[in-house]
Amino acid sequence: MQFEGFVGNAALKAALSGALSRRRLPHAILLQGEAGLGKRTLARLIARAAVCRSADRENAPCGVCPSCIRSAAGSHPDIRIISGSGASNAISAESVEKVIADAYRRPEEGDASVYLFFVENGISDAAQNKLLKLIEEPPPGVLFIFTVPSADLLLPTIRSRAQTFTLRAPDEREAAAYVEHKTGIPPEEALALAALHRGNIGKMLSDGENGRAAKAAQLAQDMALALAEGTEHDLLAASAPLIKDKPLFQETAVRLQLLFRDACMVKNGVNTAAAGTLDTAQRLNRKLSLRSLMALCEMTAQYANYMQRNANMALLVTAFCAKMRETAGR
Ligand SMILES: [Zn+2]
Repeated sequence: MQFEGFVGNAALKAALSGALSRRRLPHAILLQGEAGLGKRTLARLIARAAVCRSADRENAPCGVCPSCIRSAAGSHPDIRIISGSGASNAISAESVEKVIADAYRRPEEGDASVYLFFVENGISDAAQNKLLKLIEEPPPGVLFIFTVPSADLLLPTIRSRAQTFTLRAPDEREAAAYVEHKTGIPPEEALALAALHRGNIGKMLSDGENGRAAKAAQLAQDMALALAEGTEHDLLAASAPLIKDKPLFQETAVRLQLLFRDACMVKNGVNTAAAGTLDTAQRLNRKLSLRSLMALCEMTAQYANYMQRNANMALLVTAFCAKMRETAGR
């Protein structure tokens, strides 16, 4: 079995791979672990492997057969996701009744149907009691996968009929390498995030995004003021952190665009700037003409979209700074 996008957990992977190869996947699987460890990612991979039509089970989900293409797009008719609803966001008895009504039909595409229960916010006892009979005597080819922070949240009667797998955070270096590859953040930053979150990739990614937003906001202000009030050297120095960080470049370009737009509005006597950026917008307004500000707005939007995969970042950032000065008429 292939585990693209699911890092670490070698023993668990070996157990699942072996079971899939022997066509002996348990008919009910319980994935437990704290938020951010990849329970849903793994549940989807198992579901995709179960419906994959490749004869080579080691390679499932193969990613290229018609079933894999549909499951990757989230439109496979034999993979159903059941998640919480209503004020409690728990899985309701009504949702389970729909599964019971559905589970006895034959699979539409292959010989397996998969029901994924995302139990992050609980499932009522009534719903579990309804499920019990189905899990005790499952229709042939039906696989149930539950993702849950802790198996204790399910009734013992359900737990005892499922095979439980516990997800663990990967090694911090492995987690850092994955996040670095996925987001393009610098290696030192990825390692620091991994240490902070003990290798929990979900938490690293959301923290990485929050950290980037704050950094981009500050960089955009520094660059805008260097452009309006400083020298060419000031602007290049302010832009230096962008060279090694593509996502940061893109986010900073978007924030620069917003600053120039706010400065245009200030020039027209309207204040749309947030409290933290008003001073910058006013300073831009004093130094640059309306025509320059509007052109800068357009130009930064262009560069924000101009993120080609293999762009040479040093050249791109230098060109960006030169173009900003040219557009500003400085
Ligand atoms: Zn396939």
